[in-house]
Amino acid sequence: MRKKIVAGNWKMNLDFQQGISLFSEIVNMAKDEVVGQQQVVVCSPFIHLHGIAQLAKGTSRVAIGAQNIYFEEKGAYTGEISATQVKSAGAEYVILGHSERRAYFNESDELLSKKVDAALSHGLIPIFCIGETQEEREAGRYFDVIRGQLEKGVFHLPSEVFNKVVLAYEPVWAIGTGLTATPEQAQEVHAFIRQQVAGQYNQSVADQLTILYGGSCNPKNAPELFAQADIDGGLIGGASLKSRDFIDIVKVFN
Ligand code: PEP
Repeated sequence: MRKKIVAGNWKMNLDFQQGISLFSEIVNMAKDEVVGQQQVVVCSPFIHLHGIAQLAKGTSRVAIGAQNIYFEEKGAYTGEISATQVKSAGAEYVILGHSERRAYFNESDELLSKKVDAALSHGLIPIFCIGETQEEREAGRYFDVIRGQLEKGVFHLPSEVFNKVVLAYEPVWAIGTGLTATPEQAQEVHAFIRQQVAGQYNQSVADQLTILYGGSCNPKNAPELFAQADIDGGLIGGASLKSRDFIDIVKVFN
């Protein structure tokens, strides 16, 4: 059975105290209400990592993630943060390749592949995001775009390293817009991704790969999305800022 994951992406929201309060609610609700094998991950801004990691002690149910790292290990890179630094603060996961970073911070596939390497070599699990823009979908180019992002971002990894990666299919047109891919649209792409992985590595690597869906996922649409054969959970933006909504999405796997 593939690992099911519901990961929250808080983006650049919440001051320190607000983050601590929200995380405490999530941990308590998860303890009381979540009964399945699914892994909950909260990817917070850097300032929260250490504080929320303290609150997560004693539960393996909720893990912590960062939203970015730089690929260098240390040195004169003012304002950047390394894999070892976020790991030492308690992060086990890191979101890489999010479309907001690709679009607003010009993160290229080449840069992202170095970040993926840095994460993996320091024991962080990358949640590597891929997905097409509206224009690319309308032009019928989405398979090509996704294939290219996989090839440049993660297909250089040997299979024993690749099998630590989590992928997230996030159609850019569905992120923060309230537009969700239909379960059929999402399933089509997830199946395509798995097929590409099987071709690049082998069927067993593809069968074990966790592929999350992200894009305006909420407690209403999550059950149908997560019921699709190749969707193994979600990367949740807006709805992860409300503990009730987030936990209700997690509970789809109960
Ligand atoms: C995201 O930022 O990864 C995301 C999926 O956002 P939202 O759920 O708000 O669309």
